[in-house]
Amino acid sequence: MLQIYNTLSRSVEEFKPINPLHVSIYSCGPTVYDYQHIGHMRRYVGDDILVRVIRANGFDVKHVMNITDVGHLTSDSDTGEDKMEKGAKKFGMSVWDIAKKFEKQFFDSSDLLNIKRPNVVIHATDAIQDQVDLIQILEEKGFTYKTSDGIYFDTSKFPRYFELSHQNPDELKAGARVDMIEGKKNITDFALWKFSSKGEKRQMEWDSPWGIGFPGWHIECSAMSMKNLGPTFDIHTGGIDHITIHHTNEIAQSQAASNKQFVKYWVHHNFLQVNGQKMSKSLGNFYTVEDIQKKGFDPLALRYLYLQTHYRQEMNFTFKSLDGAQNALKHLRSIISEWDEPKIGCAEFEGRFVNAVNDDVNMPEALAIAWELVKSDYPSKAKAESLYKMDKILGLQLNRHEEIKVPEDVQKLIDEREGLRKQKRFHLSDQIRHKIRKSGYDVIDEKGEKTKIVRI
Ligand SMILES: [Zn+2]
Repeated sequence: MLQIYNTLSRSVEEFKPINPLHVSIYSCGPTVYDYQHIGHMRRYVGDDILVRVIRANGFDVKHVMNITDVGHLTSDSDTGEDKMEKGAKKFGMSVWDIAKKFEKQFFDSSDLLNIKRPNVVIHATDAIQDQVDLIQILEEKGFTYKTSDGIYFDTSKFPRYFELSHQNPDELKAGARVDMIEGKKNITDFALWKFSSKGEKRQMEWDSPWGIGFPGWHIECSAMSMKNLGPTFDIHTGGIDHITIHHTNEIAQSQAASNKQFVKYWVHHNFLQVNGQKMSKSLGNFYTVEDIQKKGFDPLALRYLYLQTHYRQEMNFTFKSLDGAQNALKHLRSIISEWDEPKIGCAEFEGRFVNAVNDDVNMPEALAIAWELVKSDYPSKAKAESLYKMDKILGLQLNRHEEIKVPEDVQKLIDEREGLRKQKRFHLSDQIRHKIRKSGYDVIDEKGEKTKIVRI
């Protein structure tokens, strides 16, 4: 039985999808204005694992993700610059080219981390009409008002506004910044449609019943998720930074429009820090998956490292820990490379592994169980069968055999031994093998096959 933590109830709940066979999942995708770093990618690996776990429970999954290529301002509360226009200026490219460049970078990173692509990927700019339609429904129902800079959602008309964030409205008021947008009625109100400033030609703008402008960031996720998954769906994922504004606003506008519950389970991933600090370019600790690869690491070692921290816990990335993860992954693959062909697995370990992943996706525990299996006394063919099953969720490509780099002096011994064996001087060749073993390596001779070198 799968159990997941639901931010809505702040508790671990039994997962019961709306439809007993089909599960609908929406993930907030990247805003494609700059590089996606290893902190962003941790979340997408988390989503990938969640989808794999749900599929392993026998459900058919429809996974939808958006690409935000318009409307995301530098502040989540509708102030500041448009992130896309800002990115375009920074890289000296058009907004459209920036979107293409960083969407590609995102999917390249995803592929390197063995993240399965969502079933549906939609761009905000391809769904402008859907967003306009949704704003019109909200307008007809009386949830909107107009200011000089856009159409706003009136949060005072939606009494359950703080249901997800559990925030105290009074505290929020006390902490509110004074530079609230002119004409906004409540500090939590948010833009559904922003007008282009007079005299300014934006690279991305559209006509609408309210005038030329562009949609707000929050409305895109409501419009695109409901269009693809219906007014109520099972799981919505995102980072913990989305809880107080983005997802809270998504719930308000979706439920105001449909009069139905928007999402059954809200899943939020925690952040990643580097050496105990927030990642930022100014601190020089900003890394993409490609950067990691250029430093000689296997991107799947990063995936392995992600799995060692539960998705609801903050993770601290260091190169030392990545090195440890890479060694563990290499070691695992080299052990497996010596195993017999998979056959009839170990039910005991498979059962424990399933229990761990079904316990709110406890991957650190699942990984520990996989290692326990590897070190167990079961025959290797049984261990291989079970481990490959586990790898369908781990996604570490464990059957990818490592090329072992042998130090020069060991290679000399191996060649010497080979020569002695050809001369059938087996006593001497066994002595050389003893020396090889003392250096931490071993040779395996299989009939008709090239001698295999393994680490011991
Ligand atoms: Zn979103």
